[in-house]
Amino acid sequence: MKLILHYIFACVLFMPFCSYAREIALTFDDAPTPDSALMSGAERTARLIAALKATDVPDALFFVKADYINLQTKSRLEQYTQAGFHLANHSYSHVSANELGAEGYAADAHQAHLQLKPFDNLLMYHRFPYLHYGKDLIAINQLQQSLAEAGYRDGYVTVDNFDWYINALLVKAADEGKTINYERARDLYVSTLYDTIEFYDALARKSLGYSPRHVLLLHENDAAALFVADLIKHVRDKGWKIISPQQAYQDKIAGNFPQTVFHKQGRVAAIASAKGFSEKELRHISENADYLDKAFLDAEIISD
Ligand SMILES: [Zn+2]
Repeated sequence: MKLILHYIFACVLFMPFCSYAREIALTFDDAPTPDSALMSGAERTARLIAALKATDVPDALFFVKADYINLQTKSRLEQYTQAGFHLANHSYSHVSANELGAEGYAADAHQAHLQLKPFDNLLMYHRFPYLHYGKDLIAINQLQQSLAEAGYRDGYVTVDNFDWYINALLVKAADEGKTINYERARDLYVSTLYDTIEFYDALARKSLGYSPRHVLLLHENDAAALFVADLIKHVRDKGWKIISPQQAYQDKIAGNFPQTVFHKQGRVAAIASAKGFSEKELRHISENADYLDKAFLDAEIISD
């Protein structure tokens, strides 16, 4: 008994060393993104690989927008592959499935598959652009079926966020020749994204009754290239373990596809939605452009 009490006490003090650790995997959408005012695509890839290697991340999954693949960008995908990371399908044209309809979208995803097939680190996961699964339940279920028939599993996320908007503000500042305070930008990126991780984990506990193996949505963008190592360190400091996406997709949440049209905030929010949670409970406060505009101003991240 005394030993057990010691163990519990030690766990409270030293969360990271306990067998119980919440788990999360990293995924990056829209690879290979084009050059930006902040850095070239080649530099972005080199920085991302260096960051993931330096932090000993077991694996990461890059969801490819296949019409970005050309002679130059192809080598970036090969570099991710050679570094031991994996690729997955994020459509060819990145047009919403809600717009294309079930048949049009399935054809688009197939076109991406033909481009991705030659890469030997392709994993058969598919993620919808904008997390748009289809405009109604009939289209959603039809697409689930046709993607499954093509051999694809759903590359769902459990943690949504606006990392793409933080990135857009930084790129816009660089474009306009403004000065960026990178330390402050890093702090905002890390704290905002970490808050969304805690938010969706709390929502999972409320709606599922447990903390699933999470899948974090990130993008293959400049903000990730600059700050993902800091984010990983912070997440670990808070007692989390970084796992591979393949491990994360073993969670029983993978088999729990809720019958709802609300998928755009990820799987946990979709399940909570199907259980009757209200829409405002399913979205973190920072998933909002006005909120982030103000946060950038308040933190004085950009100056002339
Ligand atoms: Zn995307």
